[in-house]
Amino acid sequence: MPRTRLIDRVQAARAERAAHDALRPRRTIEARDGVQVRVGGRALVNFCGNDYLGLSQHLDVVAAFQEASAHHGVGSGASALVCGFSAEHAALEREAAEWMGYPRALLFGSGYLANLAVLQSLLGPGDLCVQDKRNHACLIDGARLAGCELSRYPHRDAEAALRQLMAQADGAALLATDGVFSMDGDLAPLRDLAMLSRSQEASLYVDDAHGAGVIGPEGRGSVAVANLSASDVPLLVVPMGKAFGGQGALLFGSDALLGHVAETARPYVYSTAPPPAMAAAMRASLRLIRGEPWRRAKLASLMMRFRRTALRAGIALGESYTPIQPVLLGDNARALAVSAQLRDNGYLVAAIRPPTVPEGQARLRVTLSVLHSDAQVDGLVEALARACAAFEPVGA
Ligand SMILES: *Cc1c(COP(=O)(O)O)cnc(C)c1O
Repeated sequence: MPRTRLIDRVQAARAERAAHDALRPRRTIEARDGVQVRVGGRALVNFCGNDYLGLSQHLDVVAAFQEASAHHGVGSGASALVCGFSAEHAALEREAAEWMGYPRALLFGSGYLANLAVLQSLLGPGDLCVQDKRNHACLIDGARLAGCELSRYPHRDAEAALRQLMAQADGAALLATDGVFSMDGDLAPLRDLAMLSRSQEASLYVDDAHGAGVIGPEGRGSVAVANLSASDVPLLVVPMGKAFGGQGALLFGSDALLGHVAETARPYVYSTAPPPAMAAAMRASLRLIRGEPWRRAKLASLMMRFRRTALRAGIALGESYTPIQPVLLGDNARALAVSAQLRDNGYLVAAIRPPTVPEGQARLRVTLSVLHSDAQVDGLVEALARACAAFEPVGA
């Protein structure tokens, strides 16, 4: 067979994506002040970010970042195991572990890295990883990197998870799930998953990127909402790019598990430790998450307002009671058209298309932030209702 030229292949793939309304150009945010953004010279209200608690530009968080960077500089200078682990990193790990009620926390440069690290260092050939089909991509990629068996069960189907665990009873087993699903906003059935993991001697691993900070007492997320503890969920990861308003991820677990991950996970060992100033900023975020429960209360009230008004306007919503509110549209072209019309009306809501969501389930993933006002939510719903009416509805 003749050699394939990469340039020919990527051009063909691009043409294929273009034919399916699946191109994904980036848009440049020219300025951002809370949920007000400027794109292409136009002011838009942002309804698709993950800054749920409005902490990414909070004065305390910014000040902590500035002070720590004036003191420590910008880069950490090395991997954590060499000489990149600073007192700021250690303090964040200590304070976070105490908050979440785990023996220990381990800081990563991103959630993606953390998930690759956990699965690659704890599982290998002969082991089993059972996952919800709607899990975040990096959990799937971590299992592939580990070289273990990967079984994916239908969304939120705990019985199917149990059957998959029972089908392979030798080797180590880990059941991994998002706590709050990133594209649907619904919660994993954590109590059922904890019980069946225990019965199968499998470890339960929860990725709470969209639950931590947003739900639960002191913002402890979906594990706390399910009234579970470190013994039920031996591994928990909290990416900090969402409600924390920063960057990085905290992995929670026992000394034994986290010690093993820290010393053997290639994505941890061979990656530069995050900036100490980011750790300082995330300590400030953590203080606000714990100390200002009004942020969660306001988010919940905006969420109920959005649902009430949108459902009354006949907009097809997913069954979600978190700040992630999917508006199901079906095909890519329709999602793009509704998104474009919203933009003409002053709202930024990106169209989410396959492969990020299943085929035929393109949607607008509306997200709410504590920085939104009631009036902005009402305005969005009105614009959405008009835009959706212009395109005949589909069965979601
Ligand atoms: C965003 C996200 C990640 C990745 O975290 P980053 O810090 O952005 O790399 C992992 N898991 C889930 C569920 C996420 O939503």
